[in-house]
Amino acid sequence: MSHSTGFGISGAAIVGGVCGQPIKHSMSPILHNAWIQAAGLDAAYVPFAPAADHFATFVDGLRGGAVRGLNVTIPFKEQALAAADQVSDLARMAGAANLLIFEEDGVIRADNTDGPGLLGAIAAQAPGFDITARPVVILGAGGAARGAVAALLLAGAPKVAIVNRTLDRAHELVAAFGPRTLAVAEYALTDHLKDAGLIINATSLGLGGGDGPAARLDLTPEDAVVVDMVYKPLRTEFLRRAEAAGRRTVDGLEMLLRQAIPTFEAIYGQPPSPEVDVRGLALKLLGEA
Ligand code: NAP
Repeated sequence: MSHSTGFGISGAAIVGGVCGQPIKHSMSPILHNAWIQAAGLDAAYVPFAPAADHFATFVDGLRGGAVRGLNVTIPFKEQALAAADQVSDLARMAGAANLLIFEEDGVIRADNTDGPGLLGAIAAQAPGFDITARPVVILGAGGAARGAVAALLLAGAPKVAIVNRTLDRAHELVAAFGPRTLAVAEYALTDHLKDAGLIINATSLGLGGGDGPAARLDLTPEDAVVVDMVYKPLRTEFLRRAEAAGRRTVDGLEMLLRQAIPTFEAIYGQPPSPEVDVRGLALKLLGEA
């Protein structure tokens, strides 16, 4: 691993980045470059916003490792999976990739760290929580829910109830994930909350400050944990309702930060320094600090 000359990046710098459309509000460049700077690495992390219909050409042009690795975000996660030659189990199960690694021999590897980010956030903010003990209820059946269900099943969740406004999308996930999952219509949600150990909002409800999903969180077991993937605002209406009912909560910002740890390691070959207060940095960027 080469280290910084103190004059910025050299010709030998390792380049990583994030690719999305739009990308200018992404926090990833600030977080990854803070880790790069703290480690004194000769490296950079840059944003890319290829035209929506040029993603495949863009990625193909990076074969060989001119860019070592790319985070991938909306709307390219499914296309990223299709562009790869080798796909991890999690990315395959999730049907989407948020990380592409470009090997020197031209091979492109795809992975998905959104699920591990969710599990890491639960471990950090609800320590001791046992995912194998009770069923999970997940609200939403979009890309984020799919990645979460894959990671939850691999981590040993006994049952995952997928609740979605458009029930057909929940059925699609059940068809993909099999017998430990079930599709639940919104009107039947309450029946499943009573013995749920983990309740996750993976819809976009609550984004920007509106009401979250209308779930009776007070009916869940007292030791249940409530997660909201939405992180703008940080304390969503859904999380505030969970707190008011006395439940432990996990926020979407922690999930976002936790998924970035394995991606940094995959691109730059070493874990990010725990000394950097990335959460503090992110809270400032979100206007929450
Ligand atoms: P997506 O694929 O567009 O899916 C959106 C989901 O929200 C669908 O299940 C959709 O239901 C549901 N939904 C939207 N509006 C609704 C409404 N008015 N009533 C009921 N359900 C509604 O989006 P995604 O990529 O899965 O992302 C979902 C959320 O997770 C977003 O807020 C995103 O920012 C967040 N996220 C956070 C992280 C993190 O690291 N914290 C990572 C990934 C995503 P239908 O199927 O019925 O349309």
